[in-house]
Amino acid sequence: MQPVTDRNLQLFERAQNVIPGGVNSPVRAFKAVGGTPRFVSRAQGAYFWDANNKRYIDYIGSWGPMILGHGHPAVVQAVQEAVLEGFSYGAPTEREVELAEAILQAVPSMDMVRLVSSGTEASMSAIRVARGATNRPKFIKFEGCYHGHSDALLVKAGSGLATFGNPTSSGVPPEVVQHTLVLEYNNVAQLEEAFALHGKELACLIIEPIAGNMNFVRASVPFMKRCRELCSEYGALLVFDEVMTGLRVALGSAQSVYARSIPGFEPDMTVLGKVIGGGMPLAAFGGKRHLMQQLAPLGTVYQAGTLSGNPVATACGLATLREISKPGFYEALGQKSQALISGLQGAADAAGVPFCGDSEGGMFGFFLFDSLPQNYARVMQTDNQRFNTLFHGMLDRGVYFAPALYEAGFMSAAHTEEDIAATVAAASEVFKLL
Ligand SMILES: *Cc1c(COP(=O)(O)O)cnc(C)c1O
Repeated sequence: MQPVTDRNLQLFERAQNVIPGGVNSPVRAFKAVGGTPRFVSRAQGAYFWDANNKRYIDYIGSWGPMILGHGHPAVVQAVQEAVLEGFSYGAPTEREVELAEAILQAVPSMDMVRLVSSGTEASMSAIRVARGATNRPKFIKFEGCYHGHSDALLVKAGSGLATFGNPTSSGVPPEVVQHTLVLEYNNVAQLEEAFALHGKELACLIIEPIAGNMNFVRASVPFMKRCRELCSEYGALLVFDEVMTGLRVALGSAQSVYARSIPGFEPDMTVLGKVIGGGMPLAAFGGKRHLMQQLAPLGTVYQAGTLSGNPVATACGLATLREISKPGFYEALGQKSQALISGLQGAADAAGVPFCGDSEGGMFGFFLFDSLPQNYARVMQTDNQRFNTLFHGMLDRGVYFAPALYEAGFMSAAHTEEDIAATVAAASEVFKLL
């Protein structure tokens, strides 16, 4: 039931007057699903409350960072202590070193790491290092993978492999994306063709190993193996954008998941964000020592940030890393994601609704299809109407899934069996409406 005065609606109207679309990041506006965005007033554990004081089970968790749930006591304490020591100095601190060491311990393919404030900055900078280190201009990205909103990455496929990409945003001149080659995810034949044509000019290939920006689509093992082989053969760097998957699907991140199937597998560079900041603006990029030594002040690749390695953000990230490094953390989290997906599968089957889902660690996705999609074009065949009915049905029942069909879902350590059971019970009702 909507209350007589809908505070969410009031705030949305007020917001739209002063903030474009009423939001500071587009997906929050509910444009894909319609309706009024929920303005969050507070959050605790697995829940948040909107401006009408209605409670939701939160499967977004700030789009990934809140892996411990909201307001974890150890993290709150670390942040409170840090704040008392000062907000920002613009000079190095011990905590930055500690966090860098903790990140390298979790993701050992990196020898060095630099801290920044957003995933956008981190992936943009990783590509700059790759271009600087190889002295090559071009790079590959895949359709449906998101690497932040820097100019060269807002691009869709051109016509044919000989032509490079077209901008997906106004304000990005075509010249700026002329070195970006956009390929189909999981298409080995096209990948081989692209390397045969452009391999010697490629600085890097950047990929979301488990794509979370087209819901949840894994790179197949043979496809990932081929990415690694072709990069090595042609001297291009393999850059893993693990802003979403990093320390989310496993402590060792998605690269550790692929290393289980591909012995010795490692990317050359890794981009991190979201979980490593525990909800504060913090991201990172890193890789092999000789690559990271290209960066200023050691080398000639320039990159900088006033708030990079911010003392409050690093305190939040470190406290989060300490909790998620405890034995058994990812096993428990992974079991919850699996329990949710299998519960939803059961509810959909009972209602005769086509459904399939997948998960890894604390990240999951589901589709109104009989089988898992392999690329963006297939994901986008989802019936919008049915997805929106599902989304709003769940929202009405106090369950907050992503307000767009091309986004992943996130489990936290704070979600309980009861939360999952309540979610499945709500879904059983909603699937009957589809
Ligand atoms: C969220 C995300 C980014 C962008 O990070 P921001 O902090 O929003 O700039 C980049 N890559 C991937 C894979 C992401 O999920």
